[in-house]
Amino acid sequence: MATTNGANGTNGAQKAARPVKIIIVGAGFAGLACAIESRLKGHDVILLEKFSALKVLGDIISFGPNAGRIFGRWGLHDKIWPLCTHLKVFNLHTWKGELITAQALNEKDFGSYSYNGHRGELHQILFDHAIELGVDLRLSSDVTEYWEDEHAAGVVCNGEKLTADVVIGADGVRSKAREMVLGYFDQPKPSGYAIYRAWFNAKESGIGEDPLSDYLVKDGDAFYGWIGKDVHMLSSSSKGGRDVSWVITHKDEADIEESWSFPGKMEDVLKIVEDWDPRCAAILSKAPSCVDWKLVYRDPLPTWISKKARIALIGDAAHPFLPTSIQGASQALEDGVTIAVNLKISGPEEAPLAIQAFEYIRYQRVRNAQRTGETNRDKWHQADDKKAVEDPKSVALNREEWLLGHDAEKHAWEAYPEAAKEIKEHGYHLPELPEGDVSADRVAKSREEYLAREI
Ligand SMILES: Cc1cc2nc3c(=O)[nH]c(=O)nc-3n(C[C@H](O)[C@H](O)[C@H](O)COP(=O)(O)OP(=O)(O)OC[C@H]3O[C@@H](n4cnc5c(N)ncnc54)[C@H](O)[C@@H]3O)c2cc1C
Repeated sequence: MATTNGANGTNGAQKAARPVKIIIVGAGFAGLACAIESRLKGHDVILLEKFSALKVLGDIISFGPNAGRIFGRWGLHDKIWPLCTHLKVFNLHTWKGELITAQALNEKDFGSYSYNGHRGELHQILFDHAIELGVDLRLSSDVTEYWEDEHAAGVVCNGEKLTADVVIGADGVRSKAREMVLGYFDQPKPSGYAIYRAWFNAKESGIGEDPLSDYLVKDGDAFYGWIGKDVHMLSSSSKGGRDVSWVITHKDEADIEESWSFPGKMEDVLKIVEDWDPRCAAILSKAPSCVDWKLVYRDPLPTWISKKARIALIGDAAHPFLPTSIQGASQALEDGVTIAVNLKISGPEEAPLAIQAFEYIRYQRVRNAQRTGETNRDKWHQADDKKAVEDPKSVALNREEWLLGHDAEKHAWEAYPEAAKEIKEHGYHLPELPEGDVSADRVAKSREEYLAREI
């Protein structure tokens, strides 16, 4: 069933009459990636961020080679690499401590680096790069309303009405832009799990003085994991063993709290590993504090774009990921790059077509990437110890080419003409899930509800 079609241009050829004017809401990785790539493509960018100053927040974040390819093209490798953890082997154990596999890790896969480091430190690099490229980055800018008509879109920010050709909602899991796009508040569901996480200085923590934990820091960076029923624990060091981080999942049916800074209690953390390999408690107990991050889940949204196709959701606002996918931030980067390329091809006159083509190009890929978070989690949480030791491949980290070998920029240039042709010839249609997707019934229902709201 077709919804309102905001695309009325004539062809997909590149037009350069004037720069496309873009307002991006949210300076997380999605918003910054969209802003950086948009400047590189010659667009005018206003980036609105509600925080008043950049703080080094969060802990470990991972970018796969599909995102590494983007950082490399932006010339940021030399800045990011020294801050990252340099891992050669992933030592995965059963919860009792038996080694399942020492999986060799490559610096590069499919021609590009992976980057694992502190979220706040890597965020700072992108933030500075966006400013260097001339992004009009406005802090303390709280966006409270979104609007669009046939000719433009915009926001109300700190009480002021701003106008652009398109608005990109990169405002994270609690997105306000999502409410505008869907016309309703999309309630997240508990995933049934939460993660305790910590990042700390190795020397101050004494981790190098305890024989049950010193292997994490004594020979440069190291990466260890343990898997058991409904629990997995990962710990790694970075910057040559200077910093240490760990994450450990736990069952959590309590409530839905989409917060990054919910404090965790160390006694609760240690209870999870009471009967586990003593190395786990030794590592966990060295952290001075930790956060308890609730893992919420969302079925795929019926759409990521507004009725007049001038507002698009990207990153977590469109599709939150489970950390076991190791792809949330990478897919956010791919979104931003795709939008920028599409708008370069469309020019301002056909900007709505570029937004529709963004959804067309990205929806199924993102869904397939998102699903890996569930399959990886289940693979680890339901593993049989004996079978895992006998067949380490059954629990090893997947390194699949379709996911990690992807070049989002190249793909957008190549895929746009077909997407634009399809939309022009057949009108805009809500995006389709990949065939056989487990959420198909639920998404069909939310599509119906979404379409009914239009009438
Ligand atoms: C503080 C913080 C810490 C995190 N720590 C980790 C981590 O340690 N490990 C990890 O893997 N992932 C972490 N993440 C999540 C990770 O960064 C994202 O999952 C991923 O990078 C996708 O990013 P995003 O840009 O879509 O969303 P986010 O990173 O959530 O960015 C959204 C941005 O939008 C801004 N914003 C929201 N509403 C408005 C508004 N109304 N007006 C203006 N601006 C607005 C927010 O302040 C925020 O900066 C963290 C996110 C945050 C916000």
